[in-house]
Order: sequence, then C-alpha cells, then structure tokens
Amino acid sequence: MSTPKKPGFGTLAVHAGWEPEEKTGAVMPPIYMTSTYVQDAPGQPREGFEYSRTQNITRFALQDALATLEGGACGFTFTSGMAAITTLLLTLKPGDRIVCGDDLYGGTYRLFTKVGERFGLRFDFVDTSDPMTFENLPEDTTLLYLETPSNPLLKLVPLELAIAAGHRVGADVCVDNTFATPALQQPLTLGADFIIHSTTKYIAGHSDVVGGALIAREESRKEDLWFHQNSAGTVNSPFDAFLTLRGLRTLALRMDRHCQNALQVAKALEAHPKVTKVIYPGLPSHPQHELASTQMSAGGGMVCFEIDGGADEAATVVQSLKFFALAESLGGVESLVELPAPMTHASIPAETRAALGITDGLVRLSVGIEDGDDLVADLEQALAQI
Ligand SMILES: *Cc1c(COP(=O)(O)O)cnc(C)c1O
Repeated sequence: MSTPKKPGFGTLAVHAGWEPEEKTGAVMPPIYMTSTYVQDAPGQPREGFEYSRTQNITRFALQDALATLEGGACGFTFTSGMAAITTLLLTLKPGDRIVCGDDLYGGTYRLFTKVGERFGLRFDFVDTSDPMTFENLPEDTTLLYLETPSNPLLKLVPLELAIAAGHRVGADVCVDNTFATPALQQPLTLGADFIIHSTTKYIAGHSDVVGGALIAREESRKEDLWFHQNSAGTVNSPFDAFLTLRGLRTLALRMDRHCQNALQVAKALEAHPKVTKVIYPGLPSHPQHELASTQMSAGGGMVCFEIDGGADEAATVVQSLKFFALAESLGGVESLVELPAPMTHASIPAETRAALGITDGLVRLSVGIEDGDDLVADLEQALAQI
C-alpha cells in the first residue's frame, strides 16, 4: 500500500487545527467565551480545563492550525505580534546576546532597545542580508533573530546559511515570518527553531484584528513557551482567535492573488517614467532575486518604489490614490499605501534613514486582492498628478 500523500498547503490552511466537534458536529470552532471551567471535585478540572488564560479551545484551534501550517510541533497565540515577541524575550535571561537585523520592524527595535536592554539583554544590530555576517557570528550568541523580507526595503536573509551559522554557535534561530507567511516560506522546515507572526497582517488578513503567534519546531519547547504565555498573560481572546482562524482559512487563496497583483503592479511601476526604482523580490532587478526564487515560492504582496521627486511629490501621489488607502499596517484584502519616512519609520533619525535607503520619495504598497488592472490604473492616474 502506498503511504497517503501529505495534504498540500491550501488543504491544510482550510482544515488544520480543527475536526468537527464530537458532541454537536460543529464544523467551525465555537467561540468559547468563558473565563473559567467547573471542576468535578477540588483540583479535578474536567479534561484539564481550569482557566481560560491557560486553556481555551478556540485559541487551541488557532494555535494548532498555525503550528501545522508552519511545519512546527506547537504554537502559541497572543494579543499582538509585539506580545508574541515580548513573551519570547521573557524566556531569556540577563546577559543573553541577541543578534538581529539592522532593519527590523520598528516596534521590535523599540522593544529590544528600550525594554530588553533595561532587563540586561544584549542586542547586536547587523546586516542580515549580507552572507558575511553569518561567517562572523559571535560565539556567545543566544538567539539569532531574523526578518525576511525586511520592512520596508524588502531585503532577504539567506535563511539556510543563517540557520546553519546560528546552530554552529549554539544559538536558537527565530524568524519573523509576517511578510512571507508559511504560504511562501517555511523556515522551520529549514531548521529554524521559532517563528514569530504578527497575525494582524496576512494571517488574519482582513484588517479587523490585532494578534500574534510564536511557533516552535520541537515539541520539547512546548512546556516552557506555554509556561511563559500563561505567566505573562499575553494570550489573545477567544473572539480574536476565532476571527484570526476564520481569516487563516483563505490564506493560500489570498496569497496567490496578493503575489499575482504585486508582480503586475511592480512590472507596471518599473516601466513608468516617473518611477526611478522599484523594489520587489519577484522582479529580476531585485539584488537578491536569485535567493528569492529559491527561498520563496513567490515574491509576496509588498512592493516599494521611489518616485522621481521628494516628500511633496510622494505626498501628492499617495493622496491621489483611490483604491490604495493611506494607512500603516499591511496584509489585508484591501490595498494600502504609506510613506515610510514620515509614517512607519519616522522614529528613525533622518541620517540613519538616508543611510539605509529610506528616502523621502519612497512609497510602500501593501497590494490587496482587488483586480490587478484597477490597481495599476489607480497608480497611473496618481503618478499623472506630479
Ligand atoms: C506588524 C509587525 C509586527 C508587530 O505586530 P503587531 O501585531 O502590530 O503587534 C512585528 N513584525 C512585523 C514584521 C510586523 O509587520
């Protein structure tokens, strides 16, 4: 007898984490809005359910689904992406050394430098898109913390190299997989130890819920992560877990469309006379396009471009768009546009921004799942305003 083929990603996205309930046959997980559970005798909770911070069926369904989709052994979900990262930091101890990218998500940078350092953690901010970085990884690294593609410049980390280097010095490797999602890359299957998500973005996918996740490759991590999730109380609500799982069911479909639209938009922008540069991993002009083609199954839904002009021209363009809402965040079904310099990356000093390549004319798009032709037409009419 042949062994059954492992279900594909689209099938897992629809089914993972939940079997129709035994008692009622409920096809979708009910929202278990209960804080506590009755016990049959003192200290004898039914099926181990004591209190919802510790155990909640709706949250468990989401956690199990995410663990399965990432190829991990266990998953934990939180009030936000930042709560997931905070809980990961809580598993460390003073003196531990974290090596991370120099272009991390701004909130992560703030947590590391303004909070983590106060508790005795040490952070090295390095260029994680440069393979040389991993030749010289400090021997006492505790945690290698990576983001790929990065925000907003969409630089990639060579994951295989990075993971091997991290393990060579005995460090755990964590990848923030928010931008790519497991639909495009699954770092745990390459040997990474932890995955972080802001489920606020593509995982939930509808811009209606804030949440986060931490997933581990090995079952042996489960007890420690659960202990810290429960101790810190960073859990998401049953309602948020339900919404996030509802969104997750269409992740495969949505990512296909995000990627298809993003490539169409990137190509149109690259051919536009008022655009000086387009950054998209799916374009051959991306400096790491080779790596993108081996590491990711598609280029993702984020596109950045530089317009011929400065802050004023950029403001005109983003305010002239009709289908791209001017807003921070990303990953929802609707297209969004933002200017990193005055918005998401305003807290980075101007000289540092310039050195990194975040110019005043840089525009970041989160390309939604509308009709691609409409998005291209919208960008063309907006660029015609300058
Ligand atoms: C948004 C984001 C976060 C933080 O997640 P929240 O849900 O906003 O707390 C972390 N990492 C990346 C890459 C993000 O885009």
